[in-house]
Amino acid sequence: MTPAHHPSDDILAAYAAGALDPGFGLVVGAHIEMCAACRRRLSAFEAASGEALAALPAAALAADAFAQTLSRLDAIQAPAPVIDRRPLIERLPLAKKKWIAPGVWVSAVMTPHAKDNRVYVLHVGPGKPTARHTHAGAEFCTVLKGAYRDELGLFQAGDFAAADDALEHQPKVAGDEACVCLFATEGRLKAKGALGRLAFAYADV
Ligand SMILES: [Zn+2]
Repeated sequence: MTPAHHPSDDILAAYAAGALDPGFGLVVGAHIEMCAACRRRLSAFEAASGEALAALPAAALAADAFAQTLSRLDAIQAPAPVIDRRPLIERLPLAKKKWIAPGVWVSAVMTPHAKDNRVYVLHVGPGKPTARHTHAGAEFCTVLKGAYRDELGLFQAGDFAAADDALEHQPKVAGDEACVCLFATEGRLKAKGALGRLAFAYADV
């Protein structure tokens, strides 16, 4: 399926430059893995930054530059890594599932990230609503399986969503399959109402 919702150019450029928090970078990378269009855009950003580097004035070569280059080539000739072709959800280093409600679980992704950020997978069974909430900061999400719908539209496997503190939404699972999403969240989600606060126990992953 071709994703319909993509990261903005700003987000892709920051990703290409390695400027995103690794947790947020993981969520963008999950989308890129499923999106040929963004892989092409990303190569254009990488080519542009390569040209910018090439435009810099040439630096004097170190006396042992040639030896250094040879030793780097030796390193490159190491056996090619085995490519793991399992779906991303099976490759992520997930902590133990924490059940929030019937059909709803959350699991932290054990990946490096800034102290105040959280990176997690949320599984919501078919027909289950989530709590209406706003955001304390930025939130990136890539749908890994299934689909959800919110005020911004339908998000299916591969789709990317970025939210900020201006967005208040209540995602609902669409279709008869469970929806599994990978999130990186800055700060705490702010749930609306008592039920929302209860459901948002998973804010503690
Ligand atoms: Zn894309």
